[in-house]
Amino acid sequence: MLSGRAHALKPSPTLAINAKEKVLRAQGLDIAGFGAGEPDFDTPQHIKNAAIDAINKGFTKYTPVAGIEPLKDAIIEKFKNDNGLTFKREEVIVSCGGKHGLYNLFQALFQEGDEVIIPTPYWVSYPPMVELTGAQPIIVDTREEDDYQVTGDLIKRYITSRTKGIVLNYPSNPVGSVYTVENLAQIGKLAVEHNLYIVSDEMYEKLVYDGYKHTSIASIDNTFKERTIISNGVSKAYSMTGWRIGYTAGPKEIISAMSNIQSQSTSNPTSISQYAALAALTGPQDFIVTMVGEFQKRRDYLVRELTSIPGVTCYNPRGAFYVFPNFNAVLGKKFKDRAIDTSAALTELLLEEFHTAVVPGAEFGKEGYLRLSFATSMEVIRKGIERIQNAAASLV
Ligand code: PLP
Repeated sequence: MLSGRAHALKPSPTLAINAKEKVLRAQGLDIAGFGAGEPDFDTPQHIKNAAIDAINKGFTKYTPVAGIEPLKDAIIEKFKNDNGLTFKREEVIVSCGGKHGLYNLFQALFQEGDEVIIPTPYWVSYPPMVELTGAQPIIVDTREEDDYQVTGDLIKRYITSRTKGIVLNYPSNPVGSVYTVENLAQIGKLAVEHNLYIVSDEMYEKLVYDGYKHTSIASIDNTFKERTIISNGVSKAYSMTGWRIGYTAGPKEIISAMSNIQSQSTSNPTSISQYAALAALTGPQDFIVTMVGEFQKRRDYLVRELTSIPGVTCYNPRGAFYVFPNFNAVLGKKFKDRAIDTSAALTELLLEEFHTAVVPGAEFGKEGYLRLSFATSMEVIRKGIERIQNAAASLV
């Protein structure tokens, strides 16, 4: 008999779609995949070499639970240079990916009786991760006309005596929205007033377009920094999704609690990957510029083509590598005898009949939308978009 917790937990929908896509591919079908949340670029060679060196030098044993000191120092240096933030070693922990860091963090902060504010559209893992602590996710809907930002005024309406924290993700997955400094300052003030923790997921910090400059909420005011925990990692910026290295920085007591949880579950993240992440953070950064330039071209193409479908609108992402078009005008129609009235039904139709993998918006708390990753080649994007256009045209 499984635990109630295990019963209630759904697998990650994005990983489930990736798995389905792989099965269809194995059957010989040519699938245009927009599902994957990982860059199609190879990990840069100097990072791979650092890992090979680490193996050859025998760095293949346990490391300190919270990560090796040189990597922590490189992370501290990154925060200083990129965000103007100062952290000590005991305020930083390295985990097995950003997801693992967030999991440990939620376990350290939240429990039954707590409420945690999560704005839509949210990254699929936040609500289940909050639920796994026994706390209740409080979903706050944001709108395209507000650039998908929650404001202090909006959050205020959802704060109760049980509210313990708020989760911010900018640039965001799935919509690529970012926050204005004014808005972050409003949210920070509210967090201070109501004694809330701010979980600031900045995983896509480096992947920004049109000259946008990322600002961390923790850097705006020291009173915000005291209650903010920043999550970041090397997965997306350095195309290192499989290496599983993420990091978290924040108040010492919280990082220490996360380290205790990590010590009783995974122990340290892979020693070899830690040396690779060290090379990523301290080595040449030109790879990111090249990748972002390519992503920007793909974004422009995708937004243009998607909005050429009658009724479809699409927010122009300022960061990350996803578009989140609004397909509400297309829903409610039929394909042959099949009713296409939800984003899940449209996703299934696209995969089964048009061999194109996308993720339904409902999984991100926004029905009627689809998420497409543009971390895939222009060739796949061109082929996939044509299929989506054909699918939309064949609905009556
Ligand atoms: N945060 C957001 C918003 C993400 O989209 C992801 C990955 O999809 C992560 C965190 C976790 O990244 P990692 O692969 O390092 O666990």
